[in-house]
Amino acid sequence: MSKAYLTIDDGPTTITRQMIDYLTSKNITPILFFYGQQMEKHFEEGVYALQQGAVIGNHSYSHPCFNDITFDECVSEIEQQEEWMTRLHEVAGVERQYKLFRFPYGAKGGKNKVLIQDYLRENGFNRIDDRAVEFDGYKNEQMNLDIDVFWTFDFAEYQLHNADEFTYESIIERIHDSNPQNGAVLLEENTNHIILLHDHENTEALIPEYYKILIDYVMEQGVEFVNPKFVI
Ligand SMILES: [Zn+2]
Repeated sequence: MSKAYLTIDDGPTTITRQMIDYLTSKNITPILFFYGQQMEKHFEEGVYALQQGAVIGNHSYSHPCFNDITFDECVSEIEQQEEWMTRLHEVAGVERQYKLFRFPYGAKGGKNKVLIQDYLRENGFNRIDDRAVEFDGYKNEQMNLDIDVFWTFDFAEYQLHNADEFTYESIIERIHDSNPQNGAVLLEENTNHIILLHDHENTEALIPEYYKILIDYVMEQGVEFVNPKFVI
């Protein structure tokens, strides 16, 4: 048995509502990292997710790779999305308890990495409570000190549309991989994880209810989803 927080990136979309209904039926509280261009298109779905109890985090405004833009552009991306975050909570009538940030593509800003971490710290962003994460790769990269929310296991289901050689079976192999090149061993006994999934309409088009299939599968394999906790 291992434990995990569930994080879902890139919403809101037309499938957010059904995803939330499924997670609610399983008593799973996800952290959804939204970006602004999606909120412009699907704001009501975002409001619904928040009202149903999901925790919503900032995933930038336009989802650029932060390694390829200037520090000022990084700040602008975060701050534009903060305006959307404020509006979302106001419209939903839900008090915002945490300020969370996740980098698009997990790109931590290259030469601006330290500056961005300082910015997040000075602007009141919260860390996820990852003290139970023991994965060496996570600690070696000092992710346990960073303010942004990273992950230890990535389903990589978004690769389904990029490459013919990446199939549903490839995801199942990742779940069972006991010596992964990237990320932690998900099914190792008594380990703690931050799992990454995506809210992508094109994955839904390929495998309807992919989120349900994958989450049901890992729960059958002994993963218990726990409510996210944060460091205030
Ligand atoms: Zn993303």
